[in-house]
Amino acid sequence: MQQLQEQDQHKSGKELLDQFASVSDEHEFYTPKVVGYQKGKTKYVFVFGTVMSGLGKGIFSSSLAKLMQDKGFYVEPIKMEGYLNLDSGTLNPFRHGEVFVLDDGTETDMDLGTYERFLNKNLSKDNFLTSGQIFTTVLEKERKGEYLGRDVQIIPHVTAEIKRKLRILAVKKNADIIFVEVGGTVGDLENSHYMEAIREMIYEEGKKNICFVALTYIINSGILGEQKSKAAQLGIKKLMELGIQPDVIACRSENPVTEKVLEKISIYSNVPIERVVSMHDVKSIYLLPALLRDAKIDEYVVKHLGLENRVSRETMQKNKEVWKAMLAKLNTTKTITIGITGKYTMIRDAYASVIHALQHAAMYNAVEIKIKWIETTAIEESKTTVEKELESVDGVVVPGGFGKRGVEGKIACLKYVRKHNIPYLGLCYGFQMAVIEFARNVCGLKDAHTTEVNPHAEHMIIDILPEQKKIEGLGGNMRLGGCDVQMKEGTKAWEFYGRKTMIRERFRHRYEVNPEYISVLEKHGLVFSGKAPNYSIMQILELPNHKFFIGTQFHPEFTSRPLSPNPLYVEFIKACLE
Ligand code: GLN
Repeated sequence: MQQLQEQDQHKSGKELLDQFASVSDEHEFYTPKVVGYQKGKTKYVFVFGTVMSGLGKGIFSSSLAKLMQDKGFYVEPIKMEGYLNLDSGTLNPFRHGEVFVLDDGTETDMDLGTYERFLNKNLSKDNFLTSGQIFTTVLEKERKGEYLGRDVQIIPHVTAEIKRKLRILAVKKNADIIFVEVGGTVGDLENSHYMEAIREMIYEEGKKNICFVALTYIINSGILGEQKSKAAQLGIKKLMELGIQPDVIACRSENPVTEKVLEKISIYSNVPIERVVSMHDVKSIYLLPALLRDAKIDEYVVKHLGLENRVSRETMQKNKEVWKAMLAKLNTTKTITIGITGKYTMIRDAYASVIHALQHAAMYNAVEIKIKWIETTAIEESKTTVEKELESVDGVVVPGGFGKRGVEGKIACLKYVRKHNIPYLGLCYGFQMAVIEFARNVCGLKDAHTTEVNPHAEHMIIDILPEQKKIEGLGGNMRLGGCDVQMKEGTKAWEFYGRKTMIRERFRHRYEVNPEYISVLEKHGLVFSGKAPNYSIMQILELPNHKFFIGTQFHPEFTSRPLSPNPLYVEFIKACLE
């Protein structure tokens, strides 16, 4: 009976909405048709952040999405960014966190990396949306006259475009549940069109097909020695002012949130206390799914979306055990220290994938890692020495980078690790630095450099090459996304990748090894163990007589997942442990 009423209520919205047809001059409704879309087939979980950004919305959303995936549902995430950039490619990683690169070459926010790691699958451009993309599409449609004489407005046209994107994803992936994460904080002008589109979805899709989850922040006041919930209350209130009633509230906090505070949030938000949960700091982000499961949030979401009958208990149990076995290795007493060259400020986010990949490999090898950041400009300015910086590290990573800052200091570190048999992993720029150091100090090409730093160097070991500009869209543009790498039989890298002749990794670079110098480098003992299949583009290097000295022109960290850590990271950590 109740169900019947709900259906009727829903229909009365306007039958036109059910058809999702494009309507213009006669009606105010504007909902472009998405071919193949079936209302109610795909369910939606919307995740918002209140109070402040940087609460780990992506981690929370990924954890919940993983729990749903574990139950046998086909889950797709989408991150909706408020900014006007078309992608994250031009964003400064020290301000916004790293630029994550998908296999299809899309440059995205670092949260897409979180989803790939938790869900253990590749995502594509369909999983990432910015206001810039939405507005571009709307303006293109306007120029083509697709709005049939209407004045083009945020409501209904921009909101329609947002809803259309979500429905296209639903149809394209045949998804059971779409997790929609709204970037920024509730109340930002930047994401207000997303909030409005989501509010409209309530009556277009039906409340039963949508679940709203709000993340909020509980302040641990040092002065008062207690947890304060006022900011959280105001944040949730803002969400409700926009016409969105949360179904679940997760309270971020350093320590477990007290019952009293949870009750307060419940009273002020109309959310039953059992759905107001503490999401406090845990030792590893991969422990979060268990935290949410213990709080029965996954069960609630399943029930709310009416999916109880479709849960596969067997799949769920199996997935739970696999994850648990992986986490068991977190309990270890062994610790190693990895030195990473990088700027101090905001380093964690700027090198997020590198840190995650190291952690995956560490977990796999049942060891804990400590990171020592090495500021190579300090070495250049003689404020410290290479010996001092590297004396306590078990291995060194030179991650990706751009420009001349700290480059000579990095090369000095590289010389040291090469000579002292300290495990080394060079990533993209770190690969290029290794080639330069080898050319200078082993091949005797004193002036060897990269065009990126010194376009007047005598030996342009790393360069943009004219014949390469013509191929694969190189030249002034970056080489982006997944590409095949042909492996050289008998090399260490070939061994590490399970003796495969072809592997696939993700790239983001502009320069590469100048083919004119390949023979001299090889003659002196540098081995290129991976290259592009049809061109002479070098992609992996190694030193056969070194404990572990490997550089990659690609970023192996982008494909590392907790359940399938990247082999190069795994072997690097293994070498550091020896
Ligand atoms: N700056 C170098 C290049 O453009 C390396 C890029 C990187 O490390 N991602 O080729």
